[in-house]
Amino acid sequence: MRLDLIEVEPKRIKIKRIIAVLLIILFIVIFSLLGMYCAKNYKVKIIAQKNKALENNVLSNETENETSANQEKSNVQNDTSILDLDNREHVKKTLLPVYSQNAKNAMKNIYKSDSKVAFLTFDDGPSQAVTPLILDVLKEENIKATFFVLGSMVKKNPDILKRAYLEGHYIANHGYSHNYSKIYKSVDSVIQEFQKTEQCIQNAINNPEYSSHLFRFPGGYSGGKYASIKKAAGKKLNENDISYIDWNVLTGDAEGANTKEKILKNIKKYTKNKGTIVVLMHDASSKILTYETLKDVINYLRGEGYTFDNFYSIMQ
Ligand SMILES: [Zn+2]
Repeated sequence: MRLDLIEVEPKRIKIKRIIAVLLIILFIVIFSLLGMYCAKNYKVKIIAQKNKALENNVLSNETENETSANQEKSNVQNDTSILDLDNREHVKKTLLPVYSQNAKNAMKNIYKSDSKVAFLTFDDGPSQAVTPLILDVLKEENIKATFFVLGSMVKKNPDILKRAYLEGHYIANHGYSHNYSKIYKSVDSVIQEFQKTEQCIQNAINNPEYSSHLFRFPGGYSGGKYASIKKAAGKKLNENDISYIDWNVLTGDAEGANTKEKILKNIKKYTKNKGTIVVLMHDASSKILTYETLKDVINYLRGEGYTFDNFYSIMQ
């Protein structure tokens, strides 16, 4: 019995030990699993936090992008509004020639002034071949000039006329056809061509309020076969608040001056001892030489002490 008891005791102890080992293993397993679970959770949390941060970052970038896109859009809109005549109230207000008694007198007495002011004028355009080149030079030189346009040409090239207008040049009227037998058929035909051309200008610049108040007779006002019609038409134009003007300096660009030297020679010849000058040039498509000589003409006049102006300074 005793022996049995002795034998049974170690057995129990053995079982207890096994149970203890199993419990320890179980604890280890449970703790390991718990540890792994916690670690996983922690990792998930970190990733979630990172993702959230990333998301916020993206969102804030998106907002920034959106803001900058909106800014760009508004900049573009601003730029467009600068280019779009319809939105430029100040252009409408400032670039509308006004015909007053002062303007009428100033135009009549323009050559009596000793001030060395040069009014550069370009007739017979706008043309695709030459007018934009002339506009580029005037822009570079920061000079505002006057364009005596033909209605028939404005109809063909409204965008070029609009550009000239928006760049601050004076748009004046040179009739519609430039066909002497047509325009000088009667006083009424002169007036009709004037009005038709005014309408072409208004359409091109999209401003029905525009009135140039300034005409240049094709071929000039004085003399010739149609002198009496021109004289009567000039009177009628004046009665309707329209001045007319020729020039007192010829470049000869439409009278056979076919080299730069000849044009410059004419400029020197006709500006001699003159104060205020009105210079006749042309921007028809055949007048590429006028463009090629323009810088030299400008430099020469500057050297002689001239400043440049257009008829806005008078018609206001
Ligand atoms: Zn002409």
